Amino acid sequence: MSKYDVTIIGSGPGGYVAAIRCAQLGLKTAIIEKYNTLGGTCLNVGCIPSKALLDSSEHFHNAKDNFEEHGILLKDLKPDFSKMIERKNKVVDQTCKGIEFLMDKNKIDVHQGVGSFVDKNTIKIVDGEGKETEIKSDKTIIATGSKPNYFKGMEPDKKRIITSTEALSLKEIPKSMIVIGGGVIGLELGSVYARLGTKVEVVEFADSIIPTMDQTMGKELTRVLKKLKMKFNMKHKVQNVENKGEGVVVTALDKKDKEVTFEADYCLVAVGRKPYTEGLGLENVGIKTNDRGQIEVDDNLKTSADNIFAIGDVIRGAMLAHKAEEEGTFVAEKIAGQIPHINYNLIPGVVYTWPEVASVGKTEQEVKEAGIEYSTGSFPMKALGRSRASGDIQGLVKIITNKETDEILGFHMIGARAADLIMEGVVAMEYRASAEDLVRMSHPHPTYSEAIREAAMDATGDRAIHV
Ligand code: FAD
Repeated sequence: MSKYDVTIIGSGPGGYVAAIRCAQLGLKTAIIEKYNTLGGTCLNVGCIPSKALLDSSEHFHNAKDNFEEHGILLKDLKPDFSKMIERKNKVVDQTCKGIEFLMDKNKIDVHQGVGSFVDKNTIKIVDGEGKETEIKSDKTIIATGSKPNYFKGMEPDKKRIITSTEALSLKEIPKSMIVIGGGVIGLELGSVYARLGTKVEVVEFADSIIPTMDQTMGKELTRVLKKLKMKFNMKHKVQNVENKGEGVVVTALDKKDKEVTFEADYCLVAVGRKPYTEGLGLENVGIKTNDRGQIEVDDNLKTSADNIFAIGDVIRGAMLAHKAEEEGTFVAEKIAGQIPHINYNLIPGVVYTWPEVASVGKTEQEVKEAGIEYSTGSFPMKALGRSRASGDIQGLVKIITNKETDEILGFHMIGARAADLIMEGVVAMEYRASAEDLVRMSHPHPTYSEAIREAAMDATGDRAIHV
């Protein structure tokens, strides 16, 4: 029977990063994955395929609606959807093969099959053909991730009532689509189809989209997506979704509790994700899940079993690939006796619409609720020379600071390349910079990053230059 220092169950961004870091630190490491490809949700049906389709659809949208302004005239433009999907599959395939290469390079044993605990040092693996093997492991890291969530009445049938997984592999561009949920996944995939010509209508229970982000971002993103002709029905509670064969009917209660119906070709259910622990045999090692289905962990990400850790979507916190990666590294280093650190306040959140939305630290609502005296500074992207040159004039940067000390508490932006630019905010906040520190740093001209410096100027007095 094979014996390992560390075994990781699940090969998503949490699991494979943990495995590599364990191997780098000299630990004999195995990883177990139930699917034939490595990479988990993120690489197979999440971050990577969605970004491939977002980019393809944005190219099409630009060519159709924005190239003319740049003096590029195109005729009879139409999307070849099957080619877009084929390209997306190729990107996924290459990325997953990259993980296989990394496992090999780091001498990590890969076991294909469903892993489950027999006891706290023994894991059974059942492969696709039903063949069983057992391995021994000193320590185990659970990184089994999550799967799409849904509520009563909106159960996906994966044909017309679909989740993000099916939305990434449709055979046709729908004429119309209802998206239940105005969160990140619903808006990203909704915008993919809206750009390709689908009539997209969002039905959301809350009173704003991306409700966990700063309210200014939600308002600005609504404006941006309305330009893509996306429609929004806020404060609507979905009661039922029915597959009518050729399409779907969604029934909801509006804010006055009046019943309303929506009809479309497809309904995308995007109401979050839930932790995945099915078939893990947690009962055999005395690990319980909480009422949200999450595995409970302490500050060292250790479960109630003293040699078993858990990371990523299966535990509390943001369901994000980079958060899972941080935790994978953290646990590997902890097991190896190091003193790692994660600053959970500085895990950035991003929505990959175009323009992108990115955020780190506290929202204005949060600092207000915490009773902190604060200042805000903002700057519109349209006032930048770089934005006018490229045509990306939508969006703004908003910085929240402590009124007394000028320390940056929150950093929020919507604009071209916001997903990359947010790192200036993360670095600044990790080093506890003040807005004045940002003002005193030279930002290259012309770039989108100048909006950050100008917003910092606005936060430290009425002194932004270009408004
Ligand atoms: P996962 O990636 O879910 O991996 C878990 C793995 O464990 C899976 O491969 C599963 O098959 C395997 N597994 C489960 N049980 C067993 C078992 N018993 N035995 C063996 N294997 C098992 N996040 C971002 O940060 N940026 C994005 O742009 C982004 N876009 C997204 C877009 C979509 C459409 C979706 C759905 C998600 C997106 N996410 C994004 C979220 C991101 O995918 C997750 O946060 C991330 O994948 C979580 O990583 P993980 O390692 O915890 O688990």
